[in-house]
Parts: sequence; C-alpha cells; structure tokens
Amino acid sequence: MAMQDDFPQYELETLAVRAGQVRSQFNEHSEALYLTSSFIFDSAAQAAARFSGAEEGNVYSRFTNPTVTAFQERLAALEGAEACIATASGMSAILAMVMALCSSGDHIVASTGLFGATQQLFGNILPRFGIQTTFVAQTNCDAWQSAIRPETKLFFLETPSNPLTEIADIPALVALARPRGILVAVDNCFCTPILQRPLDLGVDLVVHSATKYLDGQGRVMGGAVAGAKQYTDEVFKFLRTAGPTLSAFNAWVLLKGMETLQIRLAAQSANALQLAQWLERQPQVTRVHYPGLTSHPQYDLACRQQKSGGAIVSFTVAGAREEAWRVVDHCRLLSITANLGDTKTTLTHPATTTHGRITAEQRQAAGITEGLLRIAVGLEAVSDLQADLSRGLSKI
Ligand SMILES: *Cc1c(COP(=O)(O)O)cnc(C)c1O
Repeated sequence: MAMQDDFPQYELETLAVRAGQVRSQFNEHSEALYLTSSFIFDSAAQAAARFSGAEEGNVYSRFTNPTVTAFQERLAALEGAEACIATASGMSAILAMVMALCSSGDHIVASTGLFGATQQLFGNILPRFGIQTTFVAQTNCDAWQSAIRPETKLFFLETPSNPLTEIADIPALVALARPRGILVAVDNCFCTPILQRPLDLGVDLVVHSATKYLDGQGRVMGGAVAGAKQYTDEVFKFLRTAGPTLSAFNAWVLLKGMETLQIRLAAQSANALQLAQWLERQPQVTRVHYPGLTSHPQYDLACRQQKSGGAIVSFTVAGAREEAWRVVDHCRLLSITANLGDTKTTLTHPATTTHGRITAEQRQAAGITEGLLRIAVGLEAVSDLQADLSRGLSKI
C-alpha cells in the first residue's frame, strides 16, 4: 500500500480532495473502504512486533484502520496539524482530549457559549473525576485571565459560539495561556479549516465534530483531535484502550464529504450572508447575529480570524416563544431539527431544544432569549428560504 505524504505544499482545495489517499494493489481511484475488525500477520514474529509497536502497521480497528488513517491524514493536512486522531463522535473527541491531557486536580477555563453536551461534560461529569471547570464569557479576555489558577491546564473554546456567533479572540487567549504553560484547544466545528485554522493562530489542539460540516450531508457521526503529535499520541493511547474510535465506514463517508467541503462552505456562507442581510431588513426581526455583518460587534475580529462569516445565522423576533414558534411552525422547507452543517437548511429554537436543559438564569446569562432562532444555512436557493421564513414572520 503506497501512502502519499508530499501534500503539505498544496492549497486547501486540493488537500480536501486528495490528502491522505492510499491505494491498494488494485490501484483504486476512490479511497477504499476497509471493513475489517482485525488484520493478519505473516508470522508469529510479525504479530509480536506489531503488538509491541516495534513494527508499524495495523493490528485491530480499535487501534488503527487504513480508511480511518486516510481520514486522519486528510484532516491533519487541512488543519495544518502534525497529526490527527479520529473518534466516534465530536463528544468523544472532546472527552478523549481531556482524558489524555488532564488529570484529577487539574482545572479548565472554558467559554459559557459551548455546545450543550460539552457544557454538561465539563460542568457535571468531569468534576466527579476531580477536574473542575470555570466558565467565562467568550469575548471577555480579562475574565479568562482572572479565572486562571495555578492548576489550570486547559483553555477550551468554540468560535464562533453557538447560537449567538460570538467570536473569541484566539491570538489574545493564546497570549494569556502560553507563558503560563496552559494548553489552548478550539472546537473548530463551525468554521472547519476551510474558514479558520486555529493551529496557525497558535492554539495547541483543534477538536471537531465531523458529524457537522466535514460530512456535510447529515449521514454519519464522527470526530477528531488534531495538533502536535506529542498530544495526539496521548489521545491515541486513551482511545485504543477506551474504545470510542471512528468506524471505517464513517471514515469513508467523511472522506467523500470532505471532497466537497470547500465548495459547500463557500456556497453556504454566501447564502448565509445574503439571508442575514435580508433578515436585518425584516420589521419583525429585532436583532441578527452573524459575524459577516458589519453590525456584528466583532466584525473586524471575525474578518481577521475567519475567511467568511460561516453558515450559521441567528436572529431574534419581536416577541417571545409564541412568536418564534410561529416562524418555525410555518416553515415547509426548512427542517425543524437541532442538527447543523447539512446541505439542507435547518431551523432551531435554542431556548426549548439545544439549550432547554440549562436553567432559565443560565439561558439569560448566555443570551438565549425566547425569541431567538438559529438557522444553519444549506444549499437551497436563498429566495426559497426567504419565502419560507416570510410565511411565519408576516404573522407576527
Ligand atoms: C455537534 C457538536 C459537538 C458534538 O459533536 P457530536 O458529533 O454530536 O458528538 C461538539 N461541538 C460542537 C460545536 C457541535 O456543534
């Protein structure tokens, strides 16, 4: 099997299509799908060498699998990472990273705007294992600084945040963390490396929910941790033992998804900008949150850090839950679902779905009002999306 490893000099568009490709003796053009749980050895000596690690090679798909390896190499190339380890889901990527790099007694500083399950993991599960998290406002660097303790091991953030699209100043947070020996990890799910490369901005680790834009068509679950090999090796050690590895089939689907990542994100971001500008002009809409709008409080920072505003737009309707639900319930085209990153546009009422389990006070603090709606913009014609939203908006 020949591995092509001369890819770093290529542009992202090229890497998305070709990086990590391997060919078997059949010289297939599309990446092969290796659906096998285990691999056989030529001899007892080779089996021993593979198990001890003296010889590189596949042993068992909980450890490595060639299709999964191809996915890892492609994503590593896109993120500009030395190495990447794939996981069964985005949440298992975050869990594996923390399990690999933190120990009982360590402390994490994280943003309040994190994905709901990440908040639950950090806030309710990790404390049982002696790992405490302080949550601070995404955009307030002073709050990050004040939260630092002698035992702080990790800064964890997600930018833009969900659903309010607040931007964390990545270089400023790296400047706080680095001199104190604190690692910085960014969940790059919303932007993907096509729009933002956190490792280039100085962070140590990038995590992904590959379930979202990397697949891009809502088919499979997956995740990844990318960064320096010294860290991903630790993630790998945890993963091969604990088990939440990516399936070969899902890796293969993700490889196909990544081939269209660049054109999807370009088109979906362009649609999102158009839709956000249109929403700003609607009399029933009181506020639009989108980093590509000049009205976004961190528009300049977003321009420095991201190639575009991305494909997530949120907005507040005049009124509260009743009015927001009216917009949702009048949609015939937009999918009512909490998922995002799909070619099909999705519409979510965060206060009663993704952020329904936190307390009303926490929602208030996070700015998740009852009138807030989130759209993950897909590839449909913007005029059709506007017509669909207008039906409900016109009844407010
Ligand atoms: C969906 C999501 C996750 C979790 O990923 P799963 O693949 O669902 O486990 C983590 N972070 C962000 C920003 C997400 O949107």
